[in-house]
Amino acid sequence: MKVTSKSILKYFTSLVPLSFVLASVLLQNQYWSNSLLPINALVAMGILLYCYVKTKYINFLILSISSFAWGVGEIYWAFLEMNQIDASTDILVCSIYFITNLCLLLSFFMFTYQHSSKWNSVQLYLDSFFIGTMSILLVWIAFFNKDLIIIREMLGSGVTSMLSIIFDMILAIGVLSWLFSIRSGKVAFHDKVIFFGILLFCFIDILFYYTDFHNVYFSNSLIDFCYILSLQVIAFGVLYKVDLKKRSAYSSTTVTNIGSTNAWLYLFIFPLAVFYLKISAIEVSIKTTDILLFVILIFLYRVASKYVQLSIQNESLLLKERQMNELLEKRVEEQVAELSLLVNRDTLTPLYNRSYFYLCVDKTIGSYSPNDTLAIMIIDIDRFKTINDSFGHDMGDKVLIALSNRLLEWNQYGAVISRLSGDECAILIAGSYTKKKIQRLCTDLIRLCSEPITFGEIVINVSVSIGVALYSKEVNNRKTFMKHADIAMYRAKSLGYNKHQFYNPLFDEDFNRNSKIELLLKQIDVEKDFELYYQPQFSIPDMTLIGAEALIRWNHPIHGSIPPNIFIPIAEEVNRIIVIGKWVIQETLKQTQAWNQRYQNNLKIGFNVSVRQFIDHGFISFLKTSLDEAGINAEWLDAELTESVMITDGNKASVILKQMNKLGLTISIDDFGAGYSSLSYLNKYHFDRIKIDKSLIDQVSYDNVSGVNVVKAAISMAKAVGIKVLAEGVETQEQLKILTSLGCDEMQGYLLGRPVPADVFEKVYLE
Ligand code: C2E
Ligand code: CA
Ligand code: CA
Repeated sequence: MKVTSKSILKYFTSLVPLSFVLASVLLQNQYWSNSLLPINALVAMGILLYCYVKTKYINFLILSISSFAWGVGEIYWAFLEMNQIDASTDILVCSIYFITNLCLLLSFFMFTYQHSSKWNSVQLYLDSFFIGTMSILLVWIAFFNKDLIIIREMLGSGVTSMLSIIFDMILAIGVLSWLFSIRSGKVAFHDKVIFFGILLFCFIDILFYYTDFHNVYFSNSLIDFCYILSLQVIAFGVLYKVDLKKRSAYSSTTVTNIGSTNAWLYLFIFPLAVFYLKISAIEVSIKTTDILLFVILIFLYRVASKYVQLSIQNESLLLKERQMNELLEKRVEEQVAELSLLVNRDTLTPLYNRSYFYLCVDKTIGSYSPNDTLAIMIIDIDRFKTINDSFGHDMGDKVLIALSNRLLEWNQYGAVISRLSGDECAILIAGSYTKKKIQRLCTDLIRLCSEPITFGEIVINVSVSIGVALYSKEVNNRKTFMKHADIAMYRAKSLGYNKHQFYNPLFDEDFNRNSKIELLLKQIDVEKDFELYYQPQFSIPDMTLIGAEALIRWNHPIHGSIPPNIFIPIAEEVNRIIVIGKWVIQETLKQTQAWNQRYQNNLKIGFNVSVRQFIDHGFISFLKTSLDEAGINAEWLDAELTESVMITDGNKASVILKQMNKLGLTISIDDFGAGYSSLSYLNKYHFDRIKIDKSLIDQVSYDNVSGVNVVKAAISMAKAVGIKVLAEGVETQEQLKILTSLGCDEMQGYLLGRPVPADVFEKVYLE
């Protein structure tokens, strides 16, 4: 208990007025008593009011009212006495005093109610019942002599006094029961003080009525002092409590009535008291059965209380068990969730895996309603193998993870996103989406994926192709549903990169054909199955033959001619392009050497190099040995590379390009203007020529100014860095005229010559 010197002083000074009351009462000074008694009651009221203001505890306000009522009662009593009126029978004065009883009881009930959460009410009722019964029995035996006469007489003296006595009894029994009921914890000092004050009040009040009833009471006696003392004790108890709280030294008392105690032994005071009364031979008739009655009651109480405590214990055990069970269940649930998460997750990316995706598709199909749109989008990274080959597999993994994260960020639609395999992801989306909305989602996804991915110095540009399949009753099962998305994706790929396609039954044929081609490519014999065609190239404006482009042809004995723009992308996918590419180079070298020697020419023959071939480890050394073996002038050769070469690892491309330059052959950028990448590479690397893509040349005509301007810009850009320009796919005289006026250096196109077999080329253009 921490008490500072300041607070000691405070409590001490507060005792001064009280000691004056004691003095005036002992000295029987009516004047001082009459004035000091109410003043002290009002001091108690003041203290309690202060405590209420500080804490806003309604209990304190009620206690304060109780002191106030008492103070007012005292003043009124003094007033009546001064006017020679018998105050003890005045109904008003009794009523005012009764307010004090009422407030004390109310405050006590509120106190117990506020503490009730940790209390067992059954036990409290039980305790109260037995203490109450025994107390009333004791009073009945000791004071009333088991006779109703006194009660009747007391009732005659006024209802308020009778009520006051009853309230006093209830309050005293209540406080004692509450204290008696405590089985664990310690009652705080200030609470003890307050309870002491209350019990003192009850005792004095009953004493007052007793003395008044027997006409031995005189006003301003020690009884009056004790009344004031009890009120001040309560006030100081409360003040001390608030004081502690202010200094944060207050620890809220956590007493409860759960647990075991030997307090029940106190109950023997009752039979002992009766026994004492019996032997001290006061004129009360007490029988041995009276004592026995108490003993029986104590026994009954003991049994009942044991039973209650046992059931409390069981209840708390059950509660604990339930809590344990709940905890266990939660843990198990968490672990199951964690496990299923692991089982459903992809091993590399934060996406779901294929089997979980299948599960979701099956489930969604099962609950499909025709009002909903159910779509699968298959996203495939274009030329992912190239990324793996040029940057290494670790980087490929990083790209996959980065893209996966973007997909997850995009997903505000509750879609299921999973990685099906390698570079292929699938999205399952369900809801009320229109086809237009899904189209927008696709373009969003394409845009999102084509944003450059940077890892420190390295910048990687990827593009994706998306195939979309919509579910309908005819689709019927997951396998077909997925296949449709797959077919659509292949279709999107064949349209070039960064495209999306919705499934159309017409695609099935293409898809089947592509699958067939894939198979056929695995069985090819390059020497036998392929042939090179040559398309002439001319200089502008004099239209002299300067060279040709070698273009591969695949004439399958059963399936007929298979166009290169169909089978080349597939050959790239299934990694057959290296063998095919090597054969093209060797064949071109042979033919160029033959023609230029035979016709004493300086024709430059171009051959196409696919990206996978370009970044292949053996590419440069193969090129070098081929050139050496053929003993050919390297300047007669031109390698056609597409922009996508530059999109992959810039450093690696730069090294290979330099090595190619060293070998002496020239390099052209094929399909210039068809791509989407920045043109900054034109300054960065050394090229000899750009080949403007046919799609740009198609736009060249007198009535398409912007089309002409685009080509014009491309030409001036090339001129600015000092490289030649060849126009591809020139089909009309008009185009040729315009290109001539724009200063284009060379041309190739159906207008002046289609790709033809070597012997035809020789006959038509060389002989
Ligand atoms: P490319 O490199 O852009 O080749 C030019 C394509 O345009 C050729 O189609 C050619 O026949 C066509 N062409 C030329 N002038 C005209 C014209 O005036 N009008 C029209 N409509 N078309 C014209 P081809 O031979 O079908 O080749 C298609 C693509 O296949 C080539 O496009 C090239 O990317 C690829 N390719 C062809 N041969 C090889 C090869 O040996 N290796 C590799 N890696 N790819 C090849
Ligand atoms: Ca080409
Ligand atoms: Ca081209």
